[in-house]
Amino acid sequence: MALRFFNTLTRTKEEFYTIHPGEVRMYTCGPTVYDFAHIGNFRAYIFGDILHRYLLYKGYRVTYVMNITDVDDKTISGSQKEGISLNEYTQRFRDAFFDDLKSLNIKPAQIYPEATAHIKEMVELVKTLLAKGYAYANEGSTYYRIESFSPYGKLSHMDKSGLKAGARVASDEYEKEQVADFALWKGWDEKDGGVFWETEVGKGRPGWHIECSAMSMKYLGKHFDIHTGGVDLIFPHHENEIAQSEAATEEKFVNFWLHNEHLMVEGRKMAKSFGNFYTLRDLLQKGYYPIAIRYLLLATHYRQQVNFTFDGLEAAKNALKRLYDFTDNLKLVKGDKDNPEIIQILQKATADFEAAMDDDLNTSEALGVLFTLVKDINRLMEEKKISSSDAKQVLETIGKFDSALGLLKREELIVDDEVKSLIEKRITARKEKDFKLADQIRGDLEDKGIVLEDTSDGTKWKRKM
Ligand code: AMP
Ligand code: ZN
Repeated sequence: MALRFFNTLTRTKEEFYTIHPGEVRMYTCGPTVYDFAHIGNFRAYIFGDILHRYLLYKGYRVTYVMNITDVDDKTISGSQKEGISLNEYTQRFRDAFFDDLKSLNIKPAQIYPEATAHIKEMVELVKTLLAKGYAYANEGSTYYRIESFSPYGKLSHMDKSGLKAGARVASDEYEKEQVADFALWKGWDEKDGGVFWETEVGKGRPGWHIECSAMSMKYLGKHFDIHTGGVDLIFPHHENEIAQSEAATEEKFVNFWLHNEHLMVEGRKMAKSFGNFYTLRDLLQKGYYPIAIRYLLLATHYRQQVNFTFDGLEAAKNALKRLYDFTDNLKLVKGDKDNPEIIQILQKATADFEAAMDDDLNTSEALGVLFTLVKDINRLMEEKKISSSDAKQVLETIGKFDSALGLLKREELIVDDEVKSLIEKRITARKEKDFKLADQIRGDLEDKGIVLEDTSDGTKWKRKM
């Protein structure tokens, strides 16, 4: 079966095709580096990662770009509160983001362009829109005139009947009810302090939407294959990206728009503004395994909401353990009598796995196929009906599936269980005033990349970053 994706633009599952033969160019809206990302955000990046990995699995060459938004209202106000420069402020969260990507085994994109390094490209785009009559200046800022772009609303399928011509919205984030001309370039305001650029469209800074149009087109071309993000970005962010890009280039911007549903907490979207969020760091500090978090975030199909619970996280960890035990046991298989049944099982599993993933990246079904394989092979192992070379082939197939899933990065899991028991041991040693043993345990843990911190509410640990 051919690879198919649900395209937000057409609200249908479409067969995937590429603009350039054998090559996919894709873009994911990256983080605004004003704080640590929460695991809801990472659902979006893990979804992008699964897409990236599966396209590679299918043999495509992939150019993957993810931007870093390092200038906006939130980064500016954060840096002002701390009295440090914008760059100094965002650097900390940029570094943390890349550490988190690594912990979650997210395959790096080729390019992570930063907004502040692409002001020139943004200004060029604004100038083009002005010259073509799609934009106008107003009190030092430049706005996009949505009335001038008749397809406006095609991505979010909005009803434009109530639009008030000429109404303007200055903030980057707003609801459908507030749809209006939006800011491409924001004229300098006292509250921006020292953050501004002197440009041909005035002194100020870019709006958020123009950042993504300028950076995606710079690295992927005017017309590229796939653009992703969470469903909350459909309107206004992606709608505005289309309006800006297509008006400027007079070409179709993106063929496939893919959007992931939200990670929820008790029926509400996990969000900074609701205060119902966990950062990856919060969970690692509590001793959870990063790959178990990855498992939880990818085990549900990306277009369905997932409810975050600690029970769910525990179940994800147990599923992973089952997988790790299975691969461990396969490595120990000794028999030399090959079983022809194995090849059939592997062929069927591969066909089923690919059918699930080809069907709009159905990871939950793909995991079902993987665990059916685990069950079938476990049975043959118990019955001693598997040779060591069969076992090697099973491991190869699992490895191939894992190139798309990214779950077999297991050092963390081993470290975690050991860490817990060593910490307990050290607490006991300290209680018994055996400081020599306590120090030795601390040293052993450091060798494993774990740093302990004794605080008033107990011993905490973290991975050395
Ligand atoms: P932001 O930093 O708010 O622009 O979000 C970064 C990415 O995370 C975007 O693609 C959002 O759509 C996505 N996102 C934010 N909250 C959630 C959530 N609770 N579940 C899934 N994705 C989310
Ligand atoms: Zn974006």
